[in-house]
Amino acid sequence: MEKVTLKKDDNIFECLSCGACSSSCSWFEGEGGPVPRQIIKMAALGLDDLLIQSGMLWDCLLCNRCTQNCPMGITMAKVVRKGRSHPNAGNLISEDIKKGIKSRLSTGDVNGLTREDFIETVEWMSEEFVDEVNDPAACIPYDQKGAQFLYLPNPRELGINLMHLTAMAKLFYASNQSWTMSSKHTDVTNWGYFISDDKIAREMALMVIEPAEALGIETLVLSECGHGYHVLKILAENLIGRKPNFEIISMPEFILRYIEEGKIKLDKNTHPYPVAYHDPCNLGRKSNLYDAPRQVLAHCCKEVIELTPNRENGICCGGGGGMLQDSKSKPKRMITGKAKADQIIASKVDYIAAPCLSCHRQLGDISNHYKLGVKIDTIAAMASRALLLPGMNDEPPKSSK
Ligand code: SF4
Ligand code: SF4
Repeated sequence: MEKVTLKKDDNIFECLSCGACSSSCSWFEGEGGPVPRQIIKMAALGLDDLLIQSGMLWDCLLCNRCTQNCPMGITMAKVVRKGRSHPNAGNLISEDIKKGIKSRLSTGDVNGLTREDFIETVEWMSEEFVDEVNDPAACIPYDQKGAQFLYLPNPRELGINLMHLTAMAKLFYASNQSWTMSSKHTDVTNWGYFISDDKIAREMALMVIEPAEALGIETLVLSECGHGYHVLKILAENLIGRKPNFEIISMPEFILRYIEEGKIKLDKNTHPYPVAYHDPCNLGRKSNLYDAPRQVLAHCCKEVIELTPNRENGICCGGGGGMLQDSKSKPKRMITGKAKADQIIASKVDYIAAPCLSCHRQLGDISNHYKLGVKIDTIAAMASRALLLPGMNDEPPKSSK
C-alpha cells in the first residue's frame, strides 16, 4: 500500500526532542495516554502504522497545549489529524462517531433530528416562549428570509437541553433584532473535523453555509460549541475554497455587542458569588477568542475570577478531539480530566462558566467523579438568567445557585 507520509507540509523534522510538549500534555502525569514527543518522532521516522496502532492519535485531545510550549511551533493538532486521515486509521474511529456522521449527513443533525421533528419542537417551544416573556407577539422564528441573524444551535438544544434554546431565544428577544433559525440545518457540530476527513468536514460546513446564504442573513450566530466555532470561523474558508457571504460570531460575542449598544441589560446580582471562567481550547488557544465571554460574565456576575493557568495556557477539560463523542470513553475521560479537576480544586471555586456545551458536559462529569461539587454553566445561559426585560422583571431575578 502507498504510504501516506505524515512528513509533508509539517515542520516535524525540526523537533528538538526537548520534551516540552510531553510535560504540557494533560495526560502526561496520568495513566496511558499520548506521549506528544513520541508522536512527533514516530511521524518523522515514517512509522505510520506503528503510530496508528499505538492508539495515541485517538487519545490526543487536539487541544494544542503542547504546541503552545513547543519552541519550534510544531502544531500537534495538525500532525494528529493528518495521522487520523491515514487510510489504515479508519478502523479506529469509534462507532458512535461513525453513526453521528451518518445521521448528520443524511438529516442535517448528528442525532438524526428530521426537519419535521425540528418544526414540531420549535413550534411547541415558541408557544411556551410567549408565556416565558409574557408577550403574545413573541416567538422562536424559523426559515425567515432576510432576518439579520441566524442562530445555529447545538443538537443538545433541540434534544435533552431545550431550556438552553429558550434562554438563547430570550437574548435575541431582548436585543430586539430580527433573527431566525433554519429547519434545513440544525447542528453547529462538525465531526468530520474529528476524523480529519476534509471531504466530510467540507460537506458539513456547506450544509450550514449554503442555506444560510439562501436566507440572506447578515450574521450567523453559533451556539456555544468549541470545535463548531473553530471549524466554521477559522477553517471553513479553506474547506470550501471561499469566504461565506455573512459574518460568523459566537453567542457570547452577540450578547456583548448588544450589551455595548445598551439593548441588553444584565443584573450582576443574579450571580452574587465568584464565578471562574474556563477557556475551551477550540475557542481560546485555537481560535483566539478569549475576551468576549469574560466581558459578558463581568456584566452578569458579582465577581469573575481566573483559573490558573488560563488563556493560551489553559488546561483542556479532557473531553476534546472527539473523546466526548465516544460513549465508551468515560474511564479515559476521567484520566484526561484529572489535570482540570486538580486545577479546579487548587482554585477553590465552586462555580465555573464555559462557553462550550462539550466542555460543559465533561466538566460536569469530572465534578461528579472527583466530587468537586462545582456548578457548571454556559455564558449565554447565565446572561439570559440575568436579563432585565422592561416590564417583566423590574425586580432583579433571584440567585439560581
Ligand atoms: S492532548 Fe493536547 S497536549 Fe496532549 S498531545 Fe494532544 S494536543 Fe498535545
Ligand atoms: S516541544 Fe516541540 S521540539 Fe520539543 S519535543 Fe515536543 S515537538 Fe519536539
